[in-house]
Amino acid sequence: MNPTLHIVGSGPAGLAAAHAAVLGGAQVCLIDDHRAAGGQVWRGGPGTWNAPAADALWATLQDHPDFIHVRDTRVVGAADARTLLLESDAGGTRVPFERLLLCTGARERFVPFPGWTLPGVTGAGGLQALIKGGLPVRGRKVVVAGSGPLLLASATTALAAGAQVVAIVEHQPRAALARFGLGLALRHHDKLRQAAQLFAQLRPIPYLTDALVVEATGDATLRTIVVETARGRTAYDCDLLAAAFGLLPNTELGQAFGCAVERGALRVDERQQTTVPHIWAAGECTGGGGVDQALAQGRVAALHALGLAPSGADLRALRRAQDFAALLARHFAPRPAWRALCQPDTIVCRCEDVTAAELAPWRDWREAKLATRVGMGPCQGSTCAAACEQLFGWAPPAARIPILPARAATLASIE
Ligand SMILES: Cc1cc2nc3c(=O)[nH]c(=O)nc-3n(C[C@H](O)[C@H](O)[C@H](O)COP(=O)(O)OP(=O)(O)OC[C@H]3O[C@@H](n4cnc5c(N)ncnc54)[C@H](O)[C@@H]3O)c2cc1C
Repeated sequence: MNPTLHIVGSGPAGLAAAHAAVLGGAQVCLIDDHRAAGGQVWRGGPGTWNAPAADALWATLQDHPDFIHVRDTRVVGAADARTLLLESDAGGTRVPFERLLLCTGARERFVPFPGWTLPGVTGAGGLQALIKGGLPVRGRKVVVAGSGPLLLASATTALAAGAQVVAIVEHQPRAALARFGLGLALRHHDKLRQAAQLFAQLRPIPYLTDALVVEATGDATLRTIVVETARGRTAYDCDLLAAAFGLLPNTELGQAFGCAVERGALRVDERQQTTVPHIWAAGECTGGGGVDQALAQGRVAALHALGLAPSGADLRALRRAQDFAALLARHFAPRPAWRALCQPDTIVCRCEDVTAAELAPWRDWREAKLATRVGMGPCQGSTCAAACEQLFGWAPPAARIPILPARAATLASIE
């Protein structure tokens, strides 16, 4: 096969794009670093999804003669303007492409607060992923904290797996949540129904609003958290804290190909085309919005990449998903209080154990990196660069190849 479209990322955006492309007559190569397709929200792969939309896409794709799924393979960079650099257990490979669609998703944003590096503290989506991967949580005390609808999804997953969810700690005030609910009632009945179903499952669990976890303590592992509300501070015993502070788009691969980034996400036009003419992008790497936006964008991006016109229904689905994304962004925006959580002795770079006090004297990321080794550990700043931007206002560093850890032999194949 000689693919007309290469897609990186097999989450909802990548699957919707591959589906639209093969039905549009293209030959498609879909690459992902996971064994199973599905991305974050449909983690676990075909057969485990409990999502009719995912099943329908996969039913078309799985045996389609014009579809190749390259699994367990990550794209670690750009070998040149039209060549992907891949790495798998078999080694490094260079793959030339004609047209590229980036559906690389997002990762969780971590906000440093005292105790956030203790074992037992994870992201909210991170805890979900661990549970879906087999982490036993039956009988364990879990607190889900931060901001946004992911808190409800994470708490539901923990509850269904037998955890004792002690509290859900939402930082937005009740008035903002009521305005969000009104927006759903006016324009997004399906989402309101979903939220109501989640709340019904979680009804016995305290749902604190305008509340923030200000500290996590323990010895070898998490034991207690302290929650601050308008009424003061309360300590809760817990074994696991799932803290969600929103998502950060995975823009690094786009940047490696020279695509522009705007407000932390890959910049795309109304055709989902990036600033590089032969590269399109869809889903959370272009900004947060959830699964429906990822599906709609993936479809529209693939059609435009192939020179085909999306239908009126495609464009309506996209506009509707964008409206929901805007509602989310308005009511679950980061709040300044998150910055105040970090104390001078709080670790900001957990790979290199660099504290906020050690970073404070420096003027920018580069100076701080040279002086303290911030961002020089295995994650290469993918967690702490965003924290430093929030804490000190430093522009995040430009992406460098490899965008993910890679073997020297793979890098040596770049001319
Ligand atoms: C940890 C986590 C949990 C989440 N849980 C939920 C949830 O329960 N419900 C919900 O509605 N939303 C959830 N979300 C939000 C979720 O990201 C979106 O709703 C949806 O999955 C976005 O789809 P996407 O296709 O844009 O990206 P994703 O689903 O994130 O898919 C991106 C895919 O690209 C792959 N990839 C990225 N870079 C590379 C590379 N360089 N090489 C190879 N492969 C690569 C990733 O492995 C991934 O499979 C979660 C997000 C995160 C980060």
